[in-house]
Amino acid sequence: MAVPKRKVTKSKRNMRRAHDRLSGSAFGECPNCGELKRPHHVCASCGYYDGREVVDTTDAA
Ligand SMILES: [Zn+2]
Repeated sequence: MAVPKRKVTKSKRNMRRAHDRLSGSAFGECPNCGELKRPHHVCASCGYYDGREVVDTTDAA
């Protein structure tokens, strides 16, 4: 089994992890209702995708 030859110092470990931050999630405006929605996903607020309603968002209950 491969084993590290030397201890990685806190400094070197943290320098390596300096690039590991999470990027913010992508969001765009819904062309139908203007709400923020994720690209390539049906709008959660109006149920529209690609200019037409694909999910019924009217409350039946
Ligand atoms: Zn919408």
